[in-house]
Amino acid sequence: MSSKKNIYVTQPYLPPLEEFIPYLEQIWNNKILTNGGPFHQQLETALCEYLGVDHIALFTNGTIALVTALQALRITGEVITTPYSFVATSHSLLWNGIKPVFVDIDPNTFNLDPAKIEAAITPQTTAIMPVHCYGHPCDVEAIQRIADNYNLKLIYDAAHAFGVQDAQGSILRHGDLSVLSFHATKVFNTFEGGAIICPDAKTKVRIDQLKNFGHVGEVNVVAPGINGKMSEFNAALGLLQLKYIDQAIARRKGIYEAYRERLEGTIGIRCLGDAGEKVANYAYFPILVDPDYPISRDDLYQKLKDHGIHPRRYFYPLISDFPMYRGLPSAHRENLPCATAAAQRVLCLPIYPNLEISAVDEITNLIGTNSHG
Ligand SMILES: *Cc1c(COP(=O)(O)O)cnc(C)c1O
Repeated sequence: MSSKKNIYVTQPYLPPLEEFIPYLEQIWNNKILTNGGPFHQQLETALCEYLGVDHIALFTNGTIALVTALQALRITGEVITTPYSFVATSHSLLWNGIKPVFVDIDPNTFNLDPAKIEAAITPQTTAIMPVHCYGHPCDVEAIQRIADNYNLKLIYDAAHAFGVQDAQGSILRHGDLSVLSFHATKVFNTFEGGAIICPDAKTKVRIDQLKNFGHVGEVNVVAPGINGKMSEFNAALGLLQLKYIDQAIARRKGIYEAYRERLEGTIGIRCLGDAGEKVANYAYFPILVDPDYPISRDDLYQKLKDHGIHPRRYFYPLISDFPMYRGLPSAHRENLPCATAAAQRVLCLPIYPNLEISAVDEITNLIGTNSHG
């Protein structure tokens, strides 16, 4: 047993506290706490610029943003989605009375497999909700072609994909809408927060109404909207975090490269490759523990925990294995062989900007096949 402090899968990267004080002073002075105040507007502008998108609507968290995105496009019936994600992806469908239809993942990228989508389309299908898992882009062109052919809407859960770019620019410009999470555990955080990337000003207006109870002006309510607004406090945190985001991602990249270098050639351990992104965000470091590794994935997980290292099995169990989903016909494991195998093998190792390289050494030494026993 190590006597050192615990190392968790992630740790937020916080700017110097004193730099936050002027933001608080401004809030205290002007007494605007929420409802689209000055920091909210500034953060929307700054994020559009940073991400390279035209319109963004900020939210109180990513889950309410997913729920609202589905309402903004009036999605009903069935939606095709991935079982290999955080449970909020499918929960947003249930919160709208929509039936999730699970489709298997690609065994190399762990994203929704476009070749398996068409077989899952029925007359009730209205949309596809893929996830850019670990920040690795989906096969956006193949998925868009299917959406166009069958007249389906396309909403990306881009909770992992902050700042990710393909050869043409932001990955967030694909589909009808993309949804971000700014939760404490994500690459960019506002403690809690989220956003919808909107293709045009008209869609943003509708989304802004839906996140504010459906209010249009003082006396009109046009939809049963929710309270999904981001507060001035969270928006101010975001503005400050944004100053450090490039530095944070650069440090993540250093950790990522250190892991890859040290794990190369370890028998039974595979690092998940990228999915063709031009600019990555190094949000996660997933490894696959294959059958030729001397011990099981769960034994390796426990061994690391015994040494104060706390990796996470993202994503195990699959969403389709939770009680509110497992009765669905599409949730059967025979329908999801690649997702099932991935969930049994994956381990996400600690990665965050302030993780020391000496910790990477310690973790990779524990994983190294010479150090069992
Ligand atoms: C974090 C996450 C969410 C939920 O975001 P919150 O801001 O925590 O509500 C949704 N989908 C995925 C894939 C996530 O990782």
